[in-house]
Amino acid sequence: MQRRDFIKGMIVLGACPACAKAGFAAESAHWSYEGQSGPDHWGAMAPENAACSAGSQQSPLDLAGAVKAELPPLAIDWKPGGKMVNNGHTIQINMPGGSGLSRDGSRYELLQYHFHAPSEHHVDGRSFPMEAHFVHKHKETGALGVLGVFVTLGAANAGFSRLAAAFPKTAGGEAAVEDVDPNGFLPKERAYWSYEGSLTTPPCSEIVDWMVLKQPIEVDEKDIKAFTALYPRNARPVLAANRRFILSSF
Ligand SMILES: [Zn+2]
Repeated sequence: MQRRDFIKGMIVLGACPACAKAGFAAESAHWSYEGQSGPDHWGAMAPENAACSAGSQQSPLDLAGAVKAELPPLAIDWKPGGKMVNNGHTIQINMPGGSGLSRDGSRYELLQYHFHAPSEHHVDGRSFPMEAHFVHKHKETGALGVLGVFVTLGAANAGFSRLAAAFPKTAGGEAAVEDVDPNGFLPKERAYWSYEGSLTTPPCSEIVDWMVLKQPIEVDEKDIKAFTALYPRNARPVLAANRRFILSSF
């Protein structure tokens, strides 16, 4: 399937909130992570992408100089399941309804999760081999709550090995992953950073409540290589924090 038809399909199915926001203008703009269609050019590629270059609350950030704060605990109630898709920019697992994240009385529904290599957020100037993004949407406000989890080299993670063994090799490829439990991609500790930011892909909409867990998870190096064989570099460079505070739970 051609990428254009594939993305159009996702819009119809509502499986890609970023794409739905972008509409068809961005559909024809084949953004990438390098060269003339790379991050420096996203803002000029379509009117809908203006925030990518003009926005002042963009993501990702270097998580440095955070302010200690009494952040509310994260209540995560994810369930196994989903359909894995290679969308031409990453490997993404689209989730059925019923999984969510609650914080301070607000509940966000888990729409999908996907991966970047290397990590998009940095910590004190350093990146990790990968970062997982769990994209949630608040039912009433439409705000997105994205939970970032850093991935580092180490012991094999059973769920990630299961995904890696079935990564669709070409854009548009799909694989059922009903037996994969996203809870397996959470570290033990739930301390996190929090800040107001944006999507890290076009249209870079500034509608994201970012939560990034401090403790990384470990995965087998060969499974990271399975990802980077498909996407060697799908990370937007860090942007300026400008006047934003990065909050850190104790
Ligand atoms: Zn992401």
